[in-house]
Amino acid sequence: ETEATASAPFLTDHAKLIDSVETFIFDCDGVIWKGDSLIEGVPETLDMLRSMGKRLVFVTNNSTKSRKQYGKKFESLGLSVSEEEIFASSFAAAAYLKSIKFPSDKKVYIIGEAGIQLELKQAGINYIGGPEDGDKRIDLAPGQLMEHDHDVGAVVVGFDRYLNYYKLQYATLCIRENPGCMFIATNCDAVTHLTDAQEWAGGGSMVGAIKGSTKKEPLVVGKPSTFMMDYLASEFNIKTSQICMVGDRLDTDILFGQNGGCATLLVLSGVTTLETLQSPENKIQPDFYTTKISDLLAAKKV
Ligand code: PLP
Ligand code: CA
Repeated sequence: ETEATASAPFLTDHAKLIDSVETFIFDCDGVIWKGDSLIEGVPETLDMLRSMGKRLVFVTNNSTKSRKQYGKKFESLGLSVSEEEIFASSFAAAAYLKSIKFPSDKKVYIIGEAGIQLELKQAGINYIGGPEDGDKRIDLAPGQLMEHDHDVGAVVVGFDRYLNYYKLQYATLCIRENPGCMFIATNCDAVTHLTDAQEWAGGGSMVGAIKGSTKKEPLVVGKPSTFMMDYLASEFNIKTSQICMVGDRLDTDILFGQNGGCATLLVLSGVTTLETLQSPENKIQPDFYTTKISDLLAAKKV
């Protein structure tokens, strides 16, 4: 006998939800913006929540930019958000390595874009790889071995539009041959929305390639893993039961909130449709769902 899971209710008491928490964590793509355009009503909603004394934190699985670059993106969209309020999976990779005191005589091999390089640099962690390896090809004479750096102590894999066989082989050699070399993934999103017209292979495709060649499981630092939740809760000294996680994706955002013991709110302004949310196949139910974050403006005192 299978019991149907009750589907999440539509949010009606906005003020009650807002009053029940002190912090809102917002996912970015599909909640704040879609690609490069701001979602309707976002500035007013953030202003209202701030005026009510709420702490606002922004978490994105997109590793292609650094905190600083996201700060500029928020600014270009007319939102005043400081770098310290932004937690991208690129930053999470660097923060994780810092938290385990990654040795200064070791380096990281990067499959990924500039965001990861910039965050590792900021954290004082040595790295090689990244976009610079995008043009490299393997051209070995018979019997010649491909060299790799034996000081690579971690491979960080994120979204990489310049992935090639050289990078796959380099990362594989490091993980398989360097004793204790870690395999860290910024995120495992199956698809992303580089353009609205279609879905594109996401960071999970690059991570999956290295899983395939190494037979190892990565340590994931992005959503839904609890690393960023624990990190920001400790950084701001907040209880996760006092947080509402707002996102557009069930298997990353809503699961991230639930794993952390937060209240969860799904918005339909991104990738999840009402049909998906209410389908019997969907096992991840948020506490509430709503159309977009500006629905929270209903709580505004007149
Ligand atoms: N990864 C990439 C490469 C993306 O382009 C996106 C969304 O644009 C994401 C991940 C998901 O980002 P978020 O967690 O902000 O929804
Ligand atoms: Ca999202």
